[in-house]
Amino acid sequence: MQPGAALFVSDLHLSPDAHATVARFLTFLAGTARTAGSLTILGDLFDYWAGDDDVGEPFNACVVGALRSLSAAGVPIFFMTGNRDLLIGDGFANAAGLTMLPDPCIRDIHGVKTLLSHGDALCTDDVDYQRFRSMVHDHAWQSAFLARPLAERKAEIAALRQRSEGEKKVKPLAIMDVNAESVSAALRQYGAQALIHGHTHRQGQHTHVVDGRSCQRWVLSDWHADRGSALACTADGWKFID
Ligand code: MN
Repeated sequence: MQPGAALFVSDLHLSPDAHATVARFLTFLAGTARTAGSLTILGDLFDYWAGDDDVGEPFNACVVGALRSLSAAGVPIFFMTGNRDLLIGDGFANAAGLTMLPDPCIRDIHGVKTLLSHGDALCTDDVDYQRFRSMVHDHAWQSAFLARPLAERKAEIAALRQRSEGEKKVKPLAIMDVNAESVSAALRQYGAQALIHGHTHRQGQHTHVVDGRSCQRWVLSDWHADRGSALACTADGWKFID
């Protein structure tokens, strides 16, 4: 990787059960990421996040500590929540030494006006999911949920995930991808030339023509025990690195 690159990752789904993926990410933070100009995590860093009061739990503390040492080494880290770690907030950000980003937001990457998003908001064909998304993004819902005891929240999340895994098996693959119209609308609204998102786990680069403008959409990969990838953006070009 070219030193000074802006690195983007998402969908690591870290959990105490995913030893090899966690080890891969910690190696990435201690190695490749040290020479980056910045690291941006576009959501679903964790497989689930019950609330910032769980930041000291040994597994979470280990990941937070690794992020903190990268930021302490001078590499700025930016973080956007995904659907699985939606409840990450300032407590986590302060502990990890990173800056939270709203979803979506605009970033200038070497002169390219780029829209950043986790990506789930663009999956508008999945109407049931969007209904659920609106509910959990509601501040009143979040406050009420976070007011419940931590153990109860964890149990609720585990039950929810089991249900969602079952639903995903019977959902057509197409409705779980982004909707092209929603992508165009977002690029148009923000006047962006590029979009970087994750969530769908379908790594790739796509061209969208918006009002005659050619825009690039970069989709980040999820991470597994045997592979992980990042998008590296430099003034010379953007590419996926393993
Ligand atoms: Mn996601």
